Amino acid sequence: FRINKPQNESIFTYELGSQQRNELKAKIAELKEKEIEIPLIIDGKEVKTGNLGTCIIPHNHQHVLARYHIAGEKEMNLAKDVALKAKKTWESMPWTHRASIFLKAAELLAGPWRTTINAATMLCQSKNPHQAEIDAVCELIDFLRFNAFFMQEIYEEQPVSGTEFWNRIDYRPLEGFVLAITPFNFTAIAGNLVTAPAMLGNVVNWKPATAAIYSNYFLMKLLQEAGLPDGVINFIPSMGSDIGKYMLNCEWLAGIHFTGSTEVFNSLWKEVAQNVEKYKSYPRIVGETGGKGFIFAHNSSRVDALVTALIRGAFEYQGQKCSAASRAYIPKSLWNVIKDKLLEALETIKVGDIEDFRNFMGAVIDYKSFERIKKYLEYVKESHEAQIFYGGKCDDSVGYFIEPTVIITSNPRFKTMEEELFGPVLTVYIYDDSAFDETLELCSTTSPYGLTGAVFATDRQTIIKMEQRLSYTAGNFYINDKPTGAVVGQQPFGGSRSSGTNDKAGSKLNLLRWVSPRTIKETF
Ligand code: GLU
Repeated sequence: FRINKPQNESIFTYELGSQQRNELKAKIAELKEKEIEIPLIIDGKEVKTGNLGTCIIPHNHQHVLARYHIAGEKEMNLAKDVALKAKKTWESMPWTHRASIFLKAAELLAGPWRTTINAATMLCQSKNPHQAEIDAVCELIDFLRFNAFFMQEIYEEQPVSGTEFWNRIDYRPLEGFVLAITPFNFTAIAGNLVTAPAMLGNVVNWKPATAAIYSNYFLMKLLQEAGLPDGVINFIPSMGSDIGKYMLNCEWLAGIHFTGSTEVFNSLWKEVAQNVEKYKSYPRIVGETGGKGFIFAHNSSRVDALVTALIRGAFEYQGQKCSAASRAYIPKSLWNVIKDKLLEALETIKVGDIEDFRNFMGAVIDYKSFERIKKYLEYVKESHEAQIFYGGKCDDSVGYFIEPTVIITSNPRFKTMEEELFGPVLTVYIYDDSAFDETLELCSTTSPYGLTGAVFATDRQTIIKMEQRLSYTAGNFYINDKPTGAVVGQQPFGGSRSSGTNDKAGSKLNLLRWVSPRTIKETF
């Protein structure tokens, strides 16, 4: 038996009049009709605490999708106990059978669960159908299938032996449980953060992002339907502060799989440091955090491709990707032609209720995000170093809507060139063509992040120079393409500096963090 190298899942296009589109629309209507109650799932069972939170639709914030139960100390302790108990049988299950469960989950997602997970992601995270499809459906299916394949490659990698002895490596899972803290912006990332460690025989306690509890709950149900044994993954929506108190101080914390803000990741490291003497093993801390993705254009760029990358990189999913193009460096000699094309493209962007399939952008995720981005825009309006070139309007009367916004700054280290806004805002710095080298240096040193970046040029020597000079500026580096949309199996994803531990989601490198290998030598 062998798992063959998978192909990437094909993307449904939901064309007007197609059956796919009609089914998706019907599913959206069905989900909206009924408010649901979301329990915790611990040891495969529903647990209700009565301490309730609310899931709303960001583009229509008066609409309640669900009330969810919030875990407290008691439920977290229960989750730890049952996970450790489940581990005994889970880790000794033949890996082929663990793989089967996740490969079946991929089939369910590609088939009967596809519209449910897509519709839930559209509603709960305000993603348009295409953005939900490439995330919650295709990328998640790819994570499941490719990780199963990479797991097989890991287990097959064995050391050299002699004639009178046999060396082998036993790829044990970590001793204890893994805590997965997952983000709102990609259902696929949440899925990968919990399933990658689990596939290798680990048990996982899962704290989903508050704003994504609705879609993540459906994902948990799908995993159960695929045959995930009770207790292997426990779904525990909870307060961040309680995670610190009841999970990070546990002697059996073996790893943290995280995607979220740099600030929260830093606080996790600090709490782990404070507890370091308690742990049975040093916890693996794997995280992807913020970004300040750039697009750097040379004057040899192909202008149309550049403008497409600026628009798609900055505004798809309202710029709420760590990988988003949020700062751009454009040479003066090209600016006039780019400006016109950019304006023309910006005029075509429709913002609104993503349930109307024609809208390209939905709302930003919640009130807090809306207020944060609005404050940045107010700061820009008052500044002498920058101006709003396009957009800038914010309206939260129905949903948390922010127009696609382009800022132009005369200061290459302006606040919005440096800090992550996590919204539909692109800041452009126009540089003098003769200052190309200095501007490259500025790009590399302006922001603390190192996640994604894209360069545009057609001249080969220039491309080489940009690739070399911007080395640590991006863990995912694109030449003549947008900096978003990494595909599993094609562009392993992650960055360094303040962007995380660069353990490349969707690759063997990531999976290797979830094993604690034992080398065995047997002499005959
Ligand atoms: N992997 C995504 C991309 O390439 C971004 C992930 C994130 O926002 O965390 O666009």
